[in-house]
Amino acid sequence: MRPGVDITAYQGNVKEARFGVDFFRRFDCVLNGLDNLEARRHVNRLCLAAEVPLVESGTAGFLGQVSVHIKGATECFECQPKPTPKTFPVCTLRNTPDKPIHCIVWAKEMLFPLLFGAPEASDLNETIGAEGSGEDGGEAGQADDPSFYQRREGEGSRQYAERVFRQLYSTKIEELRRMEDLWHSRRPPEPLNLDALLALEANGGSGSAAPAAKGSACKALGLTDAHAVWDVQQNARVFLVAVQAFLDERADELGAAQFDKDDQLAVEFVTAASNLRAACYGIPMQSLFVTKGMAGNIIHAIATTNAIVSGLIVLEALKLLAGAPAACQTSFLHQQVSGSKRLVSRMAAPTSNPACMVCGTAQAGLVVDTHRMTLQQLVDKVLKGRLALLAPSLSCGSFLYEEGQDLEEDEVTFYRSLLPRPLASLPGGGLVNGSIVEVSDQEQQFKAQLVISHREDWDEEVHPEGFELSGSLPAAEAEQQPAAPTATASEPAALPTSAATAAKGPKAELQETADGVVVLTSDDEEAAEAAAATGKGKRKASELAEDDGQDGKRARVQEGTDVVDLLDDSD
Ligand SMILES: [Zn+2]
Repeated sequence: MRPGVDITAYQGNVKEARFGVDFFRRFDCVLNGLDNLEARRHVNRLCLAAEVPLVESGTAGFLGQVSVHIKGATECFECQPKPTPKTFPVCTLRNTPDKPIHCIVWAKEMLFPLLFGAPEASDLNETIGAEGSGEDGGEAGQADDPSFYQRREGEGSRQYAERVFRQLYSTKIEELRRMEDLWHSRRPPEPLNLDALLALEANGGSGSAAPAAKGSACKALGLTDAHAVWDVQQNARVFLVAVQAFLDERADELGAAQFDKDDQLAVEFVTAASNLRAACYGIPMQSLFVTKGMAGNIIHAIATTNAIVSGLIVLEALKLLAGAPAACQTSFLHQQVSGSKRLVSRMAAPTSNPACMVCGTAQAGLVVDTHRMTLQQLVDKVLKGRLALLAPSLSCGSFLYEEGQDLEEDEVTFYRSLLPRPLASLPGGGLVNGSIVEVSDQEQQFKAQLVISHREDWDEEVHPEGFELSGSLPAAEAEQQPAAPTATASEPAALPTSAATAAKGPKAELQETADGVVVLTSDDEEAAEAAAATGKGKRKASELAEDDGQDGKRARVQEGTDVVDLLDDSD
């Protein structure tokens, strides 16, 4: 468009302090092409604070979306709740997995940090290391001392790998089998016999001396087809060689390694470790390619989709730069030509949700057991995990907690000392039932009130996180929706295909992927447009009205009609 244009490229994490509100203020508009929900929410808040229009975008396979967010004129990116990535009950991951994703999450989130990362920072600390909780009895959990997984004095890397293998896939499985209560209605897991697997290896002619991995256990073992599903013996060999490789070739990372989907050896390890667990539990094993996709929440990108969405972004940017923000629209790219013969449907940008905690002024409710949830958990799980804050500050009466770079050393020490304390035991009378907590984040210019409600007796199966947030907040809807966004994201095959859509009837579907993209598939986007235009109610796929075109019943949305009511009519 402008051959003489000057482009200054900045490389780095958009959450870095140098890209703060002042940085954003310098621009006429911001075009987002981010790949995760947290970063999107962060930029949304900075654009609101800087009062700079944001063109937000996303793609998921064939589906795409572009929306425009202008402070005071349209909804912000967070006006509608965004499902958070699905979480799994810890006891399922630890004791009773029944899906491949359970094994993959176990290998990636629990085992990987335990062996190569910082075990105290990993979920696994409370999983493999600590006592079992509640109904599961906890016998199996207690047996593990985290120090078991440290390399012993003079222990060779192969010896270590074999010892860990035996512990995970034999000793631990035998322990679990003894927890009879777990196996009344499930098939108990079967331990693996490493000696038998190694004997196979010796007889198989591949030689028992493990080859040096040199960055890839698979290559070293000749397993070069990423789409092949390895048998148990091959998985065992990859596991051993990959563990050895981490110890021998990447010793400098040990104690701090983090899983990265682009780290070949890490993906190989997670594939083998999760497949071996799957083998114990009679769960289908997965190829390296599929495991990488599931572990990295990857939906494979389609260049054409990205090109179309890029074009749509530019169209909206032109309107903003031409001084016509009112003309901005939200666009949806469909998987197939819709009923109105369009591949792209567009609608006016919805107005803001007054209850939005980010651009509105409403309070949010937090239900927790205030005697059990610690300040650390509140900060990590709720404020950073769910609300995507970077450096939260909390105040309630005389109680104050702060994070950030401007703090004195003694302040940091004092605030840290508060972290292990349960909410109810914090200074100033604690955060208890009815407490109204002011939450803020200087870096994001975020401010909100959190109203605490106390509740005991949490069911870990229903609320694995041990809290409930209400208000217009990113809710863990994944738990309630079978077609959960993360299930979609982690299992590409489950993407809404035309066949799946047809099977469910001609329903409009609003889906959100794990990285926060709303994607809409529909034969008739009118209902969805109308639903979104009301800006009210929950815009879930199951709740969207639809003109089925068969009995002439046409869902109509009056201004202010609640979407939920509308659905009741059409269903
Ligand atoms: Zn908002």
